Amino acid sequence: MSHAAVSPVLVIHGGAGVIKREMTPAREQAVRAAMSQALHDGYAQLKAGKSALDAVAVAIAVLEDDANFNAGRGAVFTHDGTNELDAAIMDGYTLRAGSVAGVRRIRNPILLARAVMEQSPHVMLSGDGAEAFAQSIGMPLVDPSYFRTDERWQQLQKALKEDAAKKPHADVETARHFGTVGAVALDAQGHLAAGTSTGGMTDKRWGRIGDSPIIGAGTYANSGCAVSGTGWGEFYMRTVAAHAICMKVTEMRVPLKRAAAEVINQDIPSMGGNGGAIALDAGGHISIPFNTDGMYRGWMGADGVAHVALYGDEDDGTAELPVPAPAESSAQP
Ligand code: ASP
Repeated sequence: MSHAAVSPVLVIHGGAGVIKREMTPAREQAVRAAMSQALHDGYAQLKAGKSALDAVAVAIAVLEDDANFNAGRGAVFTHDGTNELDAAIMDGYTLRAGSVAGVRRIRNPILLARAVMEQSPHVMLSGDGAEAFAQSIGMPLVDPSYFRTDERWQQLQKALKEDAAKKPHADVETARHFGTVGAVALDAQGHLAAGTSTGGMTDKRWGRIGDSPIIGAGTYANSGCAVSGTGWGEFYMRTVAAHAICMKVTEMRVPLKRAAAEVINQDIPSMGGNGGAIALDAGGHISIPFNTDGMYRGWMGADGVAHVALYGDEDDGTAELPVPAPAESSAQP
C-alpha cells in the first residue's frame, strides 16, 4: 500500500563491535567521511523520487568500495587466505529478495544480490554459480586481489596465531567480523527496503556463510519494517533476528524501538552473541540498538544532514526523534 507525502529516511551501519577511541584521527575521519558520503549518495536517490531499494543499493556500494569496511574491498580473509563475500537486499513492498554468498570476484556484491532478485528466478546464489550468473548478465568480474588490504591480512595472521593458542573469546570473535555494512530506507512512496554486505568473519572456514545474506536473519524488510543486522552472525541466524524484529512490529504491533531492543539487547546476548542492528518503520521511526562498545551508524532525514556516530556514548541524534505511538507504528503488511 502507498502512503501520501512520506518524508524519506535513510539509515546505514558500518558494523558493531569493540570501537575504541584510540582509533587514529585519520582513520576516524575516513570512516566518518565514508559514512557521510554513503548517506548523501543514498539520500539523493530518495530525494530524486527513486525507490528505497535504489537508496539502499547506492549507499551500500559506497561502503563496499571503501577499504575501511569489511565489505567489498577491505573484506576480511578466510582461513585459507581468500576473500569470500556475502550480501542481500530485500524490497519490503513486494517482499522480493536477492542474495549472494561466498562470491570471490564481485566488486559490489550488493548489486549482484539485487540482480539476483530482479533478473533471476531465484533468491540466493552462491560461489562460482553466482559469478557465472554475474557474467551472464554482463556484470564484470574483478581479480580476487582487488579485495586485499594489508591490514586485513595482518588480522588473519593474528587470528591464525590465536587459533594455535586456542583462545576462543567473545571479544576475539567480535574483532574478527567487525565492519559489515548495511542500509535501510523509506522512500517517498512509503516503501521500505533493507540490504547488508559483508566479508564475514576473519579466519572463517569450510565455506562458512553468515547471517547477512540469509533473508530474515541479517536482512529483512516488509511493508512496515526494515532491518539490517551486524554482529556475530551465528546468533542472528539462530534468532532469525531481522525477521523477528519485523514480525513484532507488523504482526504484534510492538513499537519499533522495543521490538528491536528485545532481539538485540535481550535475545542475542542471552544466548552469548553480540552485535547491533538498524531498524526503520513505515512511519519513518528509527531504532539503532547495539550491545557492543560501539557501532558505526548514521542516518539522514528531511533536513538533509548526515548524522554519523561511531562510539557507544556518542549521541547519534535518534534519541530526540519522536517515539512512535503503538497504534501507528506501521502500515498493514
Ligand atoms: N554478521 C556478519 C557475519 O557473521 C558479520 C558482522 O556483521 O560483523 O558474517
